[in-house]
Amino acid sequence: MRYCSTRGKIKGLSFSDAVMMGLADDGGLLLPEEIPKLSPTELQKLSNLPYPELAFQIISKYVTDIPAADLRNLIERSYAGFDHPQTTPVVKQDDLYILELFHGPTLAFKDVALQFLGNLFEYFLLKNDKHMNIVGATSGDTGSAAIYGVRGKKNINIFILHPQGKVSPIQELQMTTVTDKNVFNLAVDGTFDDAQAIVKEIFGDLEFKHQHALGAVNSINWARILAQVVYYFYAWFHVQKETGATHVNITVPTGNFGDIFAGYIAKQMGVPIDRLILATNANNILSRCVNSGDYSIADVHHSHSPSMDIQIASNFERYLYYLLDGDADKVVSAMDNFKTTGRLEFTAAQMDQLKHDFSSAFVDDDETIATINSFYQKTGYVLDPHTAVGIAAGKKVKNDDNPLICLATAHPAKFGDAVKKATGSEPVLPAAFEGLSSRKKKLVTIAADLEQIKSYIATNSI
Ligand SMILES: *Cc1c(COP(=O)(O)O)cnc(C)c1O
Repeated sequence: MRYCSTRGKIKGLSFSDAVMMGLADDGGLLLPEEIPKLSPTELQKLSNLPYPELAFQIISKYVTDIPAADLRNLIERSYAGFDHPQTTPVVKQDDLYILELFHGPTLAFKDVALQFLGNLFEYFLLKNDKHMNIVGATSGDTGSAAIYGVRGKKNINIFILHPQGKVSPIQELQMTTVTDKNVFNLAVDGTFDDAQAIVKEIFGDLEFKHQHALGAVNSINWARILAQVVYYFYAWFHVQKETGATHVNITVPTGNFGDIFAGYIAKQMGVPIDRLILATNANNILSRCVNSGDYSIADVHHSHSPSMDIQIASNFERYLYYLLDGDADKVVSAMDNFKTTGRLEFTAAQMDQLKHDFSSAFVDDDETIATINSFYQKTGYVLDPHTAVGIAAGKKVKNDDNPLICLATAHPAKFGDAVKKATGSEPVLPAAFEGLSSRKKKLVTIAADLEQIKSYIATNSI
């Protein structure tokens, strides 16, 4: 399998090239040259596999440059640390099927992808005798999942900037209690935007970037999408067996469009998803886009589901590439246009296609809290606010008898404040998190100053 950029200047990459490149060098996103389709018989053969073996079968269709035994081993190690034997179990609550994606080390679905990506990086680096220094800014979930993805790995150091005192207490503890010698937490005296702006500048200094072999872990890496395709298959097999249904609807709490794009790929590969529901919070650019063709950016609104407080969804360009008939020139001009006007325009035929591929609704903070509350009253099951957005949107859109699968993207304990507001009590922390606050910490506090941060990275890089 070869990879090409949505902007057409990069072609013919191997999987390992694509993973190590991350963002394509022409500014686009990398995609496989084709999406393998599985016949119903081929699908059926996969339907009883344990999660890691299913992951191997799906992922190996896209990876032709890692020996099978090595790939299997990488995948098995990626999911060995999950605290549930089914890795991503499906539980039925009320009339919904909840796909619990939060059984990894940081209790959010990002672990599914970042545990795999960390192992891939280490594998490719060791093989080529290279090093990498990962630098990133986080407002919470991505930073901790990335740290847990590469902690203790050879040939990789990781530097994660977070705004001091401005991430949730549990997220801060998750990051700062990792004391491995390759992990560097920088508590920046500033906002998330300050931290992110500094990271952008660091990557913009190409000499510094190459000198220190800087790498990124954001959701534009194809390997992250690929790892997420797997659980759509897993959930479908489970629900098919339980209900005998021929099709399902799946609702996905969406921020950067990574997770739902993985669902789109799963559907193209043959998973019989009827409605793929794009759920957003009040940052509803994608939802406006699907419902009325209005793709125009607005100001970021801070919500109870902070990991979805995003206006420019970086992975949308991958879908745009397919919507524009795989024509990279059209993608380039659409993205140029978007840069100057803050809008994307769609023809009537493209709108038909968009509505065929996705259904969508957005859910505000009050509805999010009300959903957590009513679901808890009815079932005793506690939803995290992101999952609640997905469920509320799913219910708004659903108008058929297909079973509804809801992606549960975080454990409720990660967002205790919203949960407490909705249910009146703090969610219970999983056992692995007890005593977190008394563990040893590793962090430095640092000014929001580009030169100081660069010099810290230069001194501690591998
Ligand atoms: C990152 C995240 C999302 C959004 O996922 P995207 O792939 O960015 O669309 C949703 N919920 C939680 C809890 C997250 O951490």
